[in-house]
Amino acid sequence: VCKDPPSVSSATAKMNGKPACTDVMDYVRQKKLRVWCSSPNAKWELGQIKSISGDDAEILLADGKVLTISPERLLPANPDVLDGVDDLIQMSYLNEPSVLYNLQLRYSRDLIYTKAGPVLIAVNPLKEVPLYGKASIMQYKEKTKDDPHVYAVADLAFNEMQRDGINQSIIISGESGAGKTETAKIAMQYLAALGGASGMESEVLQTNVILEALGNAKTSRNHNSSRFGKLIEIHFSETGKMCEKLFMKSANDYNYLKQSNCLRIDGVDDSKKFAVLVDALDTIQISKEDQMKLFSMLAAVLWMGNISFSVVDTENHVEVVSNEGLATAAKLLGCTSNQLVTAMSTRKIRAGNDSIVKKLTLTQKNGFEQFCINYANERLQQHFNRHLFKLQQEEYLEDGIDWAPVEFVDNTDCLSLFEKKPLGLLSLLDEESTFPKATDLSFANKLKQQLSGNSCFKGEQEGAFKICHYAGEVTYDTSGFLEKNRYPLHSESIQLLSSCKCELPKHFASVMVADSQNKSSQSWHSVVDTQKQSVVTKFKVQLFKLMQQLESTTPHFIRCIQPNGKQRPRLFEHDLVLHQLKCCGVLEVVRISRTGYPTRMTHQQFAERYGFLLLRSIASQDPLSVSIAVLQQLNIPPEMYQVGYTKLFFRTGQVAALENAKRKM
Ligand code: ATP
Ligand code: MG
Repeated sequence: VCKDPPSVSSATAKMNGKPACTDVMDYVRQKKLRVWCSSPNAKWELGQIKSISGDDAEILLADGKVLTISPERLLPANPDVLDGVDDLIQMSYLNEPSVLYNLQLRYSRDLIYTKAGPVLIAVNPLKEVPLYGKASIMQYKEKTKDDPHVYAVADLAFNEMQRDGINQSIIISGESGAGKTETAKIAMQYLAALGGASGMESEVLQTNVILEALGNAKTSRNHNSSRFGKLIEIHFSETGKMCEKLFMKSANDYNYLKQSNCLRIDGVDDSKKFAVLVDALDTIQISKEDQMKLFSMLAAVLWMGNISFSVVDTENHVEVVSNEGLATAAKLLGCTSNQLVTAMSTRKIRAGNDSIVKKLTLTQKNGFEQFCINYANERLQQHFNRHLFKLQQEEYLEDGIDWAPVEFVDNTDCLSLFEKKPLGLLSLLDEESTFPKATDLSFANKLKQQLSGNSCFKGEQEGAFKICHYAGEVTYDTSGFLEKNRYPLHSESIQLLSSCKCELPKHFASVMVADSQNKSSQSWHSVVDTQKQSVVTKFKVQLFKLMQQLESTTPHFIRCIQPNGKQRPRLFEHDLVLHQLKCCGVLEVVRISRTGYPTRMTHQQFAERYGFLLLRSIASQDPLSVSIAVLQQLNIPPEMYQVGYTKLFFRTGQVAALENAKRKM
């Protein structure tokens, strides 16, 4: 079916939804094939060409209606034998509606995984799907099943690790609620099963329960959103012993928990989840005593959120108001109320508003934290680009093969906006953070002065600024940037923790002191005085360490997709899905994979492996001549490979064919 149309590369429709190349459309028109019609409401509809005359095309839609539309608004649709293919690279026509339709069709059949060349796309089912568990794991382990799956990715990574002796990474990305955490657990489930050690599996997986219980929170986009170190939400059973001992009240009584007004999740029983958590802590052998210490600290944090402050002078200095929060937090920490008051008020915190509680809980959807997260995401996207576009294409060019470069959204400019020295966002933030008199507004003005020439930056009114991220434009509010960036733990806090009677706070204090004194020996880091390292500098150091670690591995990528904004199963919103596919470059990956040559071998390797297949001896024995003779003898079509200076490059599937020939000999 796919042989007739013009060859794949010339049939490649534009990715941005504009009409396809005319030769493809001519062919589609002549044969009256299936087409996508872009209707005025921006939705794509599938139909069959009935007739085309001049500026009007008549299209028969699925519901029997006939649509009259300009031929300009048509894109070629794939023949129906290609409906629901499990790798997008198999599609004859790669355009937006075809990709969306394919993913949606699979999604409606609970086939949530689809390959996009080397990348696995995972569309969140938002309900249970029968794809996991021991039986399924066995099928992938024994290679009796090869449908796209997280298990298949984990299996490949595991096998490559064993074969090549190289560390592997599985990089899972996507928006909040897209399914990253669940996907990671599914991968771990498979790897734990492969590891084989009994008991190990449950321990590895139980750590997730604990991390999620301590580090996740319900947000409007995901009822189990990972927020490590940001907001801790934990629910205690109303009758449980722990609640007596911890002076707990209901979630609604805590400032840190009640602000979202979304405390309940349908179908989730907090007390059952608490029992699961305790079970997980038992499994990894955390003693009951230590569990109690842990819960006391969490309870203390919640109670501290209920402490209020009053402004005592015109300079906005604050004093702690003595209340239940103060007394209970102090009791749980094992210190006196006075010690806690001293630690919390002698920093002379400037409050812009009348109370510091308000300042700390002010909702800034894009503030300092999001700024750091988005910076990290830019780095990860660059890693993705480097591996899937840059390195591969550079190799083609270096080896002199015939190759028309595939364009991709390069985010180097955005990264340099963050990292450039001395005039990048991070340097400017650090510089401003060291001036005692600087304010968030003076920081915003400095950014405007210094960065307005950068195309990825735009200064906004009232201390805001905009960054053009690879995933779209984001506006940031500078409120709180300087305070949050300065070394976040003041000596008063560390002193308080170390003077507490309880073990855990004391331990925290010593870890923090050790951490702040731990000077790193990395050269790019040595210029910074680690004792007073700012938060963004620390963040960058950690990010670079992560990237360094990733660079030493063979990467595998999984892109999680959120199918709708309502967290509802079976609902597939085209615009939302398309936006996610576009901004992470998945469509370009498909393009480069199917026009590209994913398998490569040096002439030497190839000649050694397949040279013996030659039926006639050839005059020259150099590896290149041997290789070419083998390829000719086996009638490998010339469009299926390219001969480079040092290597042979093959299209997908060709090496399997060669191996087959080898087996038959
Ligand atoms: P965040 O960035 O906010 O942490 P996330 O990408 O980690 O989001 P998850 O917490 O993994 O998102 O997924 C959100 C919810 O989607 C899960 O709680 C679960 O209900 C559902 N979900 C995700 N993946 C699957 C899956 N494979 N099967 C069933 N449900 C899933
Ligand atoms: Mg998560």
